Amino acid sequence: MKNTIALVYDFDGTLSPKSMQEYTILRDLGVKDSKIFWKQLDREAERDNAEKSLVWMRMTKELAEKSKTGMTREYFRKSGKEIDYFPGVPAYFKEVTKYVQKASKGRMKVRHYIVSAGLKEILEGISIRKEFHNIFASEYHYDERGLPTFPKVVITDTIKTQYLFRINKGLEKLNEDINQHMPEADRPIPFENIIYVGDGLTDVPAMTLTKKSGGHSIAVYRARHQKGLETCKRLLSANRVDFIANADYRKHSELFQYVTTVLDLIMKRYEYGQKVEQNRKRL
Ligand SMILES: [Mg+2]
Repeated sequence: MKNTIALVYDFDGTLSPKSMQEYTILRDLGVKDSKIFWKQLDREAERDNAEKSLVWMRMTKELAEKSKTGMTREYFRKSGKEIDYFPGVPAYFKEVTKYVQKASKGRMKVRHYIVSAGLKEILEGISIRKEFHNIFASEYHYDERGLPTFPKVVITDTIKTQYLFRINKGLEKLNEDINQHMPEADRPIPFENIIYVGDGLTDVPAMTLTKKSGGHSIAVYRARHQKGLETCKRLLSANRVDFIANADYRKHSELFQYVTTVLDLIMKRYEYGQKVEQNRKRL
């Protein structure tokens, strides 16, 4: 029996109301209306039949070069401090860890992860960085002046699933081959112990993989945001998520209750498995 539970979060729209670029890069580059930036991105991606993640990485780099703001790795890291969160987010991770610690009498452990199509360099500087066991996101390669030259890691909707397998198999470094077969029993975090939390259609591959593999998914929406709620309802009706809830992470919120409901199930299953194992010793 494996005693680690992984909670895996998307970032933009899931933990934070806006996309991370809006609090950081776009503001500093003088992009007053971020909608114009995202529309241009959509247009270019459509025109060139291009991958959106690569298009925004290129557009950001070009904007930075034009504006001469010196967007170094250090700049990105510092800008992460400016990000806003949904209610309760800063305290939530420790609350969840404490909940499991208490309910499982210390028998089970919790790890929190971020898997985001945003920029890892920004996420390295967020105020809640220390809450996460690991963060997976897109990254730039930098030249000797510390300026981005080329994407080094690109994460898209479907590539997110690769990182779920990395968490599942305990192979979190990119140079570790995840395609080798690993028997279920050897995987440090079985999918049954994984909870994926996301906010939209970009999370569909990750939610679907998690659920089909025996894990759990939750979709969140911004309060009073009709479009987000509609998306969540579609995810629920297509059985891609177990629960949908307002992105309120405070203790006693609806979301917190759903998270603990799933955690209770995982902890009970673990306890059951342990009893079965003990009982077999009678043979
Ligand atoms: Mg999102």
